[in-house]
Amino acid sequence: MTINIPDGVAYELVDSLRGGHLLLIQDYTFSRTNRSSRLWFCSSKLSSQCKAKVKLSNDKVVSHNLEHNHPPPRYFKTREGTLVKL
Ligand SMILES: [Zn+2]
Repeated sequence: MTINIPDGVAYELVDSLRGGHLLLIQDYTFSRTNRSSRLWFCSSKLSSQCKAKVKLSNDKVVSHNLEHNHPPPRYFKTREGTLVKL
């Protein structure tokens, strides 16, 4: 099995309104199914059946699929850094 380790994928960790975290990559948001998971799925996974996902390990992106089948979500970032979807 070949493990492809891409580098240079910048992401931002932001607070979501519900008290969890969101991952922000290239204007797209990702969320994870539970707190211990390293896999982050596109926030539009269910609504758009988007297959984009990111795997984190030690705060680094170790694998990713950043091909979305939809435009980036529109959001607003509060002064506290919380992301609010419009
Ligand atoms: Zn997506």
